[in-house]
Amino acid sequence: MLCLKIYRLSIPGRVGSIPVRPHCWLIAMSVRSQFVERPELAHWEARVDLAAVLRWTARLGMHEAVANHFSLAVNPEGTRFLINPNQMHFARIRASDLLELDAHDKETLSRPGAPDATAWGLHGSLHRRCRHARCVMHLHPPFATVLASLEDSILPPIDLNTATFFNRMIVDTALAGLAFEAEGERCAAMLTDPRIRIMVMGNHGVLAIGDSVADTFNRLYYFERAAQTYIRALQTGKPLRRMSAEIAEKVARDLERYPGQAESHIAEIKSLLDEEGSNYAS
Ligand SMILES: [Zn+2]
Repeated sequence: MLCLKIYRLSIPGRVGSIPVRPHCWLIAMSVRSQFVERPELAHWEARVDLAAVLRWTARLGMHEAVANHFSLAVNPEGTRFLINPNQMHFARIRASDLLELDAHDKETLSRPGAPDATAWGLHGSLHRRCRHARCVMHLHPPFATVLASLEDSILPPIDLNTATFFNRMIVDTALAGLAFEAEGERCAAMLTDPRIRIMVMGNHGVLAIGDSVADTFNRLYYFERAAQTYIRALQTGKPLRRMSAEIAEKVARDLERYPGQAESHIAEIKSLLDEEGSNYAS
């Protein structure tokens, strides 16, 4: 992408015996290497979006070493999907690093460059069973994971962010081990209702699903913020001020209809990464 930058230069000098600092304008042209297009790779815009939010998740400290995974369906049936490569840190993933997998390919784990086995178990199962789950993001972020560790992992509506998830999340209380295929199938079977877009995975972490990278990342981000508010409120030891069910439902519905927030969120994340010269979009 051709990029024009305009600089205002101050150049000290003298006119006769009088010191002056005349200004001149310099127009610089450069190629932004981070925007090098890769037309040979399909789903390029989706890849760029996914790489951007992987980077941002690491920036926010919501990742965990080289674990956790984000995926996005790229065919109408939802069975072919992009996913982050095995054991690669979120902070280093580029759009071209993402794997494209077929949820029905039984040989996936034996092929070169195979994904992490738990990534395949969880995301492969969801993309096979839940057509509405176009995008799936799974993390062990600090506050949602504390919530997942409580005996009661339901998030009560005590502020706007917590109310966002009122009656819109489920809690899995039957962890049976790491998310290999049988565990992934069990989790996917709990997410067949399209209205449920957050699952607190008891004793494990959190899973968000949505229509796009922007929609799903925004949901996951706000869930972690909501869990943070709740956990910190519990830490005060003071009684909580809970909203009524009626108000919580109204807040959740109003926020669902609030226009453009998720798209603006990801656009700003990409702008911030671009301004830093990040290579996420390469
Ligand atoms: Zn996990």
